Amino acid sequence: MPNKKRSCQKRRVNKDLGEVIMKPYVGVWTSKNEMLQIGYRRALEFYAECGITTIIVGYEGMRSEYYNKLRKIPPIRGEETPPTLRDICKMAEDLGLGVEVVIDPKSSELARNFPETAVVDFMGNRSPSISCPSNPDVMEYILARIRDVAENYEGIIGLELDGLYIDMHPRMTNPYGQPGALYPLHHVAPESCFCEHCIKLAKEESVNIELIRKTVKELTELSLKSSPEAFYRFYDVFRGAYDMVRFLLNYPELVEWLNFRCRIVERALRTIWETVKSINPKLMLSDDMLPPAWSWSVGQDYRKHKSYCDYYKIIFFHKRTGSFEVNPLIAIKDKIPSIPEEDIMCLFKRLTGYEGSPSFALFSQHGFPPINVYYEIRKAREEVGANYPLVAGIVGDAPATPSDIEAAIIMAAKGGANGFCLHTWYGRTTPSNYAAFGNKGRELAKQVSSN
Ligand SMILES: [Zn+2]
Repeated sequence: MPNKKRSCQKRRVNKDLGEVIMKPYVGVWTSKNEMLQIGYRRALEFYAECGITTIIVGYEGMRSEYYNKLRKIPPIRGEETPPTLRDICKMAEDLGLGVEVVIDPKSSELARNFPETAVVDFMGNRSPSISCPSNPDVMEYILARIRDVAENYEGIIGLELDGLYIDMHPRMTNPYGQPGALYPLHHVAPESCFCEHCIKLAKEESVNIELIRKTVKELTELSLKSSPEAFYRFYDVFRGAYDMVRFLLNYPELVEWLNFRCRIVERALRTIWETVKSINPKLMLSDDMLPPAWSWSVGQDYRKHKSYCDYYKIIFFHKRTGSFEVNPLIAIKDKIPSIPEEDIMCLFKRLTGYEGSPSFALFSQHGFPPINVYYEIRKAREEVGANYPLVAGIVGDAPATPSDIEAAIIMAAKGGANGFCLHTWYGRTTPSNYAAFGNKGRELAKQVSSN
């Protein structure tokens, strides 16, 4: 039986020694289908036995009274399948596990069902999967979803935002089939969002949105060229980090654009934060962040956004990252076959700081080495200061092995992570991976206090 003393729900309490912001956190992003195969309760017991403190779960249901008055979007959720969120909360409480519920603020569901809510690129194309946080109908729906959960499940300890960001082509998972685009242009000149709401906000802030649109168009077209000359133009001139400074000085409007996109996300995050805290000040709000090396390209600002969530969860795919991040590199090779893959990888390494093999196959198989987790947490720590809680999200599914997971946790702790989260949503997380995660996580997770 799991030991009750292992229960480590996060909560805020005032004590003479200072406020406990976060107790040691070892969380698992659960996969309902996978858990049902061995029995949901049995799966939870196993997590608790492994040393896991918190589960992160979805909410399938909806109470129609929360959505009936929305201006445009009708209720689009259905019935909960067993076990319901209430059942899950009860089982978790019995086992001393905390429950966090995931809210998807960029709502791919909305973008799919209501394309007019999706982010828009400089050409007017809508994203098939990401809705725009500036769209009032999107925000209204997200807040209704938050109220539906926060007002009805007192047992939950937090809400986790499944990444609030702006992105045209889900860069976090880089789906295969995107057109090959040359680095670094498609990162430093992001194509979206030019929807009516973002343009209105830009004008209110005197952001030169027309110049930005012109520059983004010019650089995107350049990034889509398919000649060796176009590739080597960037390969030859981006030799090190200082060359990026030179480039940005030539395009100051890009700096304005990258900053403005962060403010768009911040505005939405602040609205969500104020809603959550007005319902229950003790309910924790966390946001899934891309690692600092990429976060700026999707509008996430570690330094500024921390005012509007209790802690960050940083998404590290490390071992699995390669199989996603290799897709846009393969797309370049497919488009310009004469470029050796070593040259494509070489430019990628210079830009991202990747320290692995310069081969597509090995990158795909092994991803980023664990040292990358250390460096990314160090960057995040630098941005947020000493006392802000950082949770390192570690991939759990094969081909990651228990030793890969332990290595990533050790590196995350060394870099200054306070807690750890195991991502399992792609399936294939082996029992020994859960055990390795729980044991090493419990050993290295730290309490965070305000002083
Ligand atoms: Zn927009």
